[in-house]
Amino acid sequence: MLAGAPEAAALDLADPLRGKRELFQLPAGVIYLDGNSLGPPPKAAFAELEQAARQEWGEGLIRSWNAAGWWSLTDTLGDRVGRLIGAAAGETVVTDTTSINVFKALHAALALRPERRVILAERDSFPTDLYMAEGVAGSRSGTELRLAADSGDLAKMIDERTAVVLINHVDYRTGALRDMADLTRRAHQAGALVVWDLCHSAGVVPIELDTLDADFAIGCTYKYLNGGPGAPAFIFANRRHHDGLVQPLSGWWAHAAPFAMESGYRPAAGIRRLLCGTQPILSLRALKAALDALDGIEVAAIRAKSLALTGFFMELVEPLCRDFGARIITPRDDGRGSQVAIAHEQAYSVVQALIERGIIGDFRAPDIMRFGFAPLYLSFREVAAAVDALRDVLASGTWRDPKFSTKALVT
Ligand SMILES: *Cc1c(COP(=O)(O)O)cnc(C)c1O
Repeated sequence: MLAGAPEAAALDLADPLRGKRELFQLPAGVIYLDGNSLGPPPKAAFAELEQAARQEWGEGLIRSWNAAGWWSLTDTLGDRVGRLIGAAAGETVVTDTTSINVFKALHAALALRPERRVILAERDSFPTDLYMAEGVAGSRSGTELRLAADSGDLAKMIDERTAVVLINHVDYRTGALRDMADLTRRAHQAGALVVWDLCHSAGVVPIELDTLDADFAIGCTYKYLNGGPGAPAFIFANRRHHDGLVQPLSGWWAHAAPFAMESGYRPAAGIRRLLCGTQPILSLRALKAALDALDGIEVAAIRAKSLALTGFFMELVEPLCRDFGARIITPRDDGRGSQVAIAHEQAYSVVQALIERGIIGDFRAPDIMRFGFAPLYLSFREVAAAVDALRDVLASGTWRDPKFSTKALVT
């Protein structure tokens, strides 16, 4: 019998979210621990895509921009993402990619603090955030990107020169959760603004952007929100910043009267000012189905199961780590997102050997095995089975097979 099996069975029985797995399409024989990178399809997404493509595109043609509500999807879906991150209606739009939204949010924040020149971020942020911040700094003379060694350092570096702080709510490698209330307050006390990157927390960690009076937030919809590969991202701007919102990608979707076809740009009122151009409607429709799956579920319930799943995994995996020279680098207290990261010298090969057995996690350089725990479709039984497979891979040394050390294009 698996270690932890009786406990897993009891936990599954008591799980109020266990019926939600039905809503997702998951292949047989797979334990999916990578929903923090790409969530699986909600079954309803296939019918939604079929309807959007065959009926609305195929039959409705251009009429569907009005008749099927295509034009407003950025806003209607934005408000539904807003519910999950503590934003009022009219403060969030779904559009573009996270990278592009980092660019827009940083520019908007810098424009609101014209006398300040520093963008502050953590060195261990997800790289695209830093690359985009470099691009923003490079496109505004005098703007400087400063990097902090960690979040403690970051808190200390916020001062009267800081225009905007860009922070990943959850560290994509370790899974450590930043204190959003504390860092937002510190930034505001110094007169700075904050852009929160919620890629690894939207839909799985309760977030209260309005209660905390947060300034800007951005994030993906293809991780815990299950919107599909390349699903459009979201961007939130606090209502109190709307009148002063300026961003350089001033496309026609952000115009006050897009169909007046004026030759000069006049900004739209409100959050639509953060749009740019025509959006991928089919992808937005897959996201709509994914948000439907979250209807009626409180993020607090998702969080409770997330902490239980990750806690259970760490409890079972800890003795293994001791035996095989591995180390859990995810915080044991509640200061974690919904993933567990384990450092091991041969992390890449071990993950490949697990994937061959249908246990899908991922590898992050230099030596991290990352396992994501998405509460809507994972069971405690699967957690126990994954740990059992990991034990077997480590004990048997199957990971040593040279085929597991060849790096693929995407890791
Ligand atoms: C996944 C992720 C991204 C991805 O950005 P894209 O523009 O969608 O490629 C950005 N930032 C963080 C923190 C992420 O986890």
